[in-house]
Amino acid sequence: MAMLQTKLLSCVLFILVVLQYSCPATSQEVEDESEFNYSQQSERGPARWGEIHPEWRACSNGTMQSPIDISNERVHIVSHLGKLKRSYKPANATLRNRGHDMMLSWEGKEAGAIEIDGTEYALRQCHWHSPSEHTINGRRFDLEAHLVHQTADGKIAVVGLLYKIGRPDPFLASLEDDLAAITDTTQGERDVGVMDPKGIKFGSRKYYRYIGSLTVPPCTENVVWSFVTKVRTVTREQVRLLRVAVHDNYDTNARPVQSLNHRSIQLFKPDDEEKN
Ligand SMILES: [Zn+2]
Repeated sequence: MAMLQTKLLSCVLFILVVLQYSCPATSQEVEDESEFNYSQQSERGPARWGEIHPEWRACSNGTMQSPIDISNERVHIVSHLGKLKRSYKPANATLRNRGHDMMLSWEGKEAGAIEIDGTEYALRQCHWHSPSEHTINGRRFDLEAHLVHQTADGKIAVVGLLYKIGRPDPFLASLEDDLAAITDTTQGERDVGVMDPKGIKFGSRKYYRYIGSLTVPPCTENVVWSFVTKVRTVTREQVRLLRVAVHDNYDTNARPVQSLNHRSIQLFKPDDEEKN
């Protein structure tokens, strides 16, 4: 009997010790862990995104996923798409640390819109991926910006911009203090005042067009992608600042390239474009 009591007591003590040491660590882990991540080995990594929630299924079984490799041999040059008609305007913006990226967002339709095929898509937010998610002829760049636009009925159009290491990007330079201020604050937000999206320079009227998806869950398809061909520059420090601010223990937030699956990629070159 005494032996049983001793056994029970040590059992209870063992459970108490386990609770004391494991519970705080466990809850910490849950707090730090975002719903998905970029580790190939993780259960929440890109290869498993489609299994995490039923609404995220397209991430696994979608056939028009992004990003893709934009390879010359798959590109058709066209002139009928027309220029990207932007009517961006300065508006109050909020910078948010989403845990997997930094996002700058504008309210409603205040920051203006882009017009594609006669449809107006309001600029909602921009965010950054490093290294780039899309590749050009297999080449990956240091940073990729996504300008996300949406119609009132939920259609999405994203403009993608590529950057390599070089001179500072002026738009990111204007955000450096704000980025630093919300480092370490997952889900932290900061009102950054009036930001003019025209400050995000495209640098060329040439762009690639294809139909793809969001590159993060829920990987929603039928996203109209316009990818500016000009590669701009950013400093190593600016790329580092975007990444450090996010504190997700991963040094990348780039989804691997997805299958093209017979989709066509068009390259729009205006007829009046000067040869360069
Ligand atoms: Zn993105």
